[in-house]
Amino acid sequence: MSGERDKRHLDGIPAHTLTQVQSYLERFTLSLEKLQDVSSRLKKALILGLGKRTHHRAAVKMLPTFVRATPDGTERGDFLALDLGGTNFRVLHVRVVEEQQCVMKMDSQICAIPQDMMLGPGEQLFDHIAACLGDFLDSQKLKGQTLPLGFTFSFPCEQKEIDKSILIRWTKGFNCSGVEGQDVVKLLKDAIHRRADYDIGSVAMVNDTVGTMMSCGYRDQSCEIGMIIGTGTNACYMEEMKNVKRAEGEDGRMCINTEWGGFGDDGSLKDILTEFDVTVDETSINPGVHTFEKMISGMYLGEIVRLLLLKMTEDKLLFEGRTSDALRTPGQFQTKFISEIEEEEDGLDNARSILTELGLEWSPVDVQVVRLACDVVSSRSARLCAAALATIVNRIRVNRGLDHLKTTVGVDGTVYRKHPNFSDELQETVRLLAPKCSVSFLVSEDGSGKGAAMVTAVAQRLALQSRLLEDSNGEEEEEEEQEEEEQEEEQEDD
Ligand code: BGC
Repeated sequence: MSGERDKRHLDGIPAHTLTQVQSYLERFTLSLEKLQDVSSRLKKALILGLGKRTHHRAAVKMLPTFVRATPDGTERGDFLALDLGGTNFRVLHVRVVEEQQCVMKMDSQICAIPQDMMLGPGEQLFDHIAACLGDFLDSQKLKGQTLPLGFTFSFPCEQKEIDKSILIRWTKGFNCSGVEGQDVVKLLKDAIHRRADYDIGSVAMVNDTVGTMMSCGYRDQSCEIGMIIGTGTNACYMEEMKNVKRAEGEDGRMCINTEWGGFGDDGSLKDILTEFDVTVDETSINPGVHTFEKMISGMYLGEIVRLLLLKMTEDKLLFEGRTSDALRTPGQFQTKFISEIEEEEDGLDNARSILTELGLEWSPVDVQVVRLACDVVSSRSARLCAAALATIVNRIRVNRGLDHLKTTVGVDGTVYRKHPNFSDELQETVRLLAPKCSVSFLVSEDGSGKGAAMVTAVAQRLALQSRLLEDSNGEEEEEEEQEEEEQEEEQEDD
């Protein structure tokens, strides 16, 4: 909690209440020293994830993405993009225009994914995706074409190639059967072939962090980190190939999808977990995994606050000890309430109506305490993200042997975008934890849509370049052969 916010939220809370309240809230407070400690734990975890022999037991998976370059501004063409993994499923038609250095969204369509489909058989989910794509192609009169497709699939995947991607595990409320351990591109293509009424061109699999980095990379070529703080959380960055032990090659860089949401799954964050984090994990559909994500991201923050308020009420610190059905029901305190309650101007008014909606009888002091509770939970999230991001920028600086690194992070996600103080607190904390780095933040414009098209475009450019290289190699060989023949002829003549 930053100093100013601290004071503002304490206004009007009597001293004795404050002392009691603080004994609950201080469990969420992380000092700068603690954050530095968290950052060095993550640093070790990143190395384990990259290592050939340590990867299989690493909590932070550090997945190679086969994205070896950020945009250079010469990319162009028409693409399709699919986006699955946030709040909605989307289909897009995107045009990358070289001359204007821009990515244009031609059209898009949102398809709902019903809750039961998120938990049902995988085949049903992929049939639904293929049907949405089919409808969209119909409406755009694109069915006869076979456009390349960027598939933003925002779950941890072991990528074998840009178009082969095995789902390691579902996160964020999805749990379809028969997909974990399978190649997602194959599942998509199988579903399209079952329909047999259209086809697609080459596919590039993209994590949303990578799409975000790439969409920002088109605007700012020093963007080499992508970060999401939305329903889930994660980051990717450009790592030196020589450190990516699980992919072939020593030269250049490759984008690594860190999957930092899994940080702590080996117990390394045990000391900073509160009893509320433990309950959130135990009652989730994937207990024991994505520990860091569950302390940070939009899917869980509201639930942490609800459990905290419930506990304080049961202990008679709030609402004269009277809970309500809504407060006792998981999921009823939405993460967006936190942003609304913390708003500078209307926060207290918002808090009053939200508490009333939740069936609670509040006093003015209750309203202040609730605001304080929201503040400590969101502040912890911002500071933990900052510690993780600082670990990455510090690593990039050391990797390159620089005294000072200037870099840009492409960012997206509802928590980062919508919360009134989150981005400020995150940036301020990164400055403190990575003093030798100047980090700029660029909010992505639709990384999961346009960014996916950009990854596909860069992949095409690189494929084209390597084809040209192979062709010209061939020409060189022919030229050499010809020269040799000429020399032989000359010798014969002599
Ligand atoms: C997923 C990541 C994704 C992140 C943000 C996490 O749950 O594991 O792959 O990037 O959410 O959407």
